[in-house]
Amino acid sequence: MGNAFEMIAVGNNCPGYTPMYDGFQAISAESETKSCRNCSHFEKGICNIDYYDKVVSSLDQA
Ligand code: SF4
Repeated sequence: MGNAFEMIAVGNNCPGYTPMYDGFQAISAESETKSCRNCSHFEKGICNIDYYDKVVSSLDQA
């Protein structure tokens, strides 16, 4: 997967983005920004529903 900026770009454009929370509190201040890093589908460094590459290629076309 790409760098932090790319993961934010993807998070903001991904139809599968689902915020990840730890109990009632967002996991970090960073989670106010949509990013794969705070998406519940982001697991072990990859997107577990395989959206990442699709979203990246749609960004490249923009
Ligand atoms: S981890 Fe997957 S579902 Fe979540 S924002 Fe990134 S590409 Fe989308």
